[in-house]
Amino acid sequence: MSTEKFAVIGHPIEHSKSPLIHQAFASQFGKSISYEKLLSPLDGFSETVSRLLSEGYRGANITVPFKFEAFEASHVLSDRATSAGAVNTLSFKHEQIIGDNTDGCGLVNDILRHWRRNIEGQKILLLGAGGAAQGVILPLLVQKPALLTVANRSLDKAHMMVQRFEAVAQSNQVKLAVQTFNDLAENYDIVINATSAGLQAEALPLKDTIFAHHTLAYDMMYGRETPFMQQARAAKAQVSDGLGMLVEQAAEAFYIWHGLRPDTAPVIQSFR
Ligand code: NDP
Repeated sequence: MSTEKFAVIGHPIEHSKSPLIHQAFASQFGKSISYEKLLSPLDGFSETVSRLLSEGYRGANITVPFKFEAFEASHVLSDRATSAGAVNTLSFKHEQIIGDNTDGCGLVNDILRHWRRNIEGQKILLLGAGGAAQGVILPLLVQKPALLTVANRSLDKAHMMVQRFEAVAQSNQVKLAVQTFNDLAENYDIVINATSAGLQAEALPLKDTIFAHHTLAYDMMYGRETPFMQQARAAKAQVSDGLGMLVEQAAEAFYIWHGLRPDTAPVIQSFR
């Protein structure tokens, strides 16, 4: 049997850990796969996808800045992709492009499995209203937290995002709220930073009182200690970066392509 071919498409792409993660998963099952990094021209995403389709690739992961273009390029979308408005996993089947989004599921699985924290009945604060925040909101809501507060620098974006999820929140009996960073004061059980402020090492204008000792402060960024993580650590909260989310979203993509559930814990451990 020929080796199945996969790729991760982005711009830039050199930093991507996806090939290493997928090869680690494949080796758990004695599978041989090819998984490469593909730098797509910024104006050439659809040509890159067409080439993979014609060359018999089975699927591709999509990273910055192409998640919205991957959404547009998909012939079929999962519910997760539709609610996120973005695609991070493509499967190629019989000339069809099937788009899914595993980012939110990756975050939730990391919180539940590796941090052993409940989401059900908890007070959750989500910082940010960009692509990453939009991708995690549905998977968070279906876990039935008591409260999900969204705060964002541009408040109108937070309101627009929350509006789209009001019906789901209601059916899961979740109280949805929007606040400014400055108005946040009470502590939360889980605080998720889905802003990209950490990329520029910028601090968010957050009061220390949002963190209690039992709070899990989760930054979706990985590979560096952000000002958000430093602030939460100083307030004695439990702190996580986004490495577990990265590995868990890859595990869900691996499951979509191979129907196999890899063991994520040793892979997260090896990257630490
Ligand atoms: P977007 O560009 O779509 O959104 C950026 C968000 O950050 C917006 O809400 C924006 O607010 C906010 N923001 C940016 N700079 C600042 C600042 N200085 N102060 C306050 N708010 C700020 O990015 P994404 O949503 O795609 O990505 C967000 C983060 O999530 C990135 O760091 C990315 O690396 C990470 N991520 C991690 C994953 C993982 O697997 N671990 C998966 C996906 C993403 P405004 O609306 O006001 O502009």
